[in-house]
Amino acid sequence: MPELPEVEITARLLGRALQGAIVESALAPGLNTLKTFAPPLAALEGLALTGVHRRGKHLVVEFDGGLALLIHLMSAGRLQLYDTRASMRDRTSRLLIRLRDGRELRLREFGTKQAAWAKLLESTQLEADAALASLGPEAWPEPPEDLAQRLAQPRPLYAALRDQHVIAGIGRSWVDEILWTAQISPFKRGTDLSSQEVQALREAIAITLGGALEHYEGTLALPLPDKLPLPLAVHRHAGDPCPRCATKLESVSFEDYVMSYCPICQTEGRVLKDRRLSRLLK
Ligand SMILES: [Zn+2]
Repeated sequence: MPELPEVEITARLLGRALQGAIVESALAPGLNTLKTFAPPLAALEGLALTGVHRRGKHLVVEFDGGLALLIHLMSAGRLQLYDTRASMRDRTSRLLIRLRDGRELRLREFGTKQAAWAKLLESTQLEADAALASLGPEAWPEPPEDLAQRLAQPRPLYAALRDQHVIAGIGRSWVDEILWTAQISPFKRGTDLSSQEVQALREAIAITLGGALEHYEGTLALPLPDKLPLPLAVHRHAGDPCPRCATKLESVSFEDYVMSYCPICQTEGRVLKDRRLSRLLK
């Protein structure tokens, strides 16, 4: 699932490679991928790409003439650049931007769900679009000054930090890494944080996301692989030794994902109940 560091590196690498490229044609093989009708995709023909940016977990591809494609990869989408055109039999193709130099920018999606989406908008309408207008402030490079107020709700941190209206860019993978870095329990409620813990959390957000991005800058190049190698120390590492204290990392399962933490560094030695299991046993 692409989160802030993965979307940011995608935007940077594509932005560098696509600057000035001219669109030959654009089409959307994905049935429900394109969420807008006016302007039509054909309006991109002949326009030059001027940049690729990130906002939260969204990508923004800008064109001259004041048009922009707003893209959300959701859980299984990728925006990739190829030297040749997709075979029309490629069932992962959702949106194709064919360039005059023969390359193709392709929104692909893996799995059976069609959830990734795109909107073609006037650049001036971007910030007013519902998807961006409702986003909280960016988690990186500078986590919001008012993080304490934003998190002051009776919800556990593992949920509040992934709420894109509270803070934009963090998802299931990086929330585990951030809470482990800050040495705070994922089940602690935002209302119960001390000012020192809020400060530790702000620093952990900046260090963790910035570190991942630095790692990607040093290791990734185009073409981006279908599956990015996430530099994770805790998430998906249940059963492994904690990189800080060597205690066995524990995990809690929810309906559709697994959260990992260190019981010594984060929960005062307590091993948290598996929510799914405890519900079944009730
Ligand atoms: Zn530990």
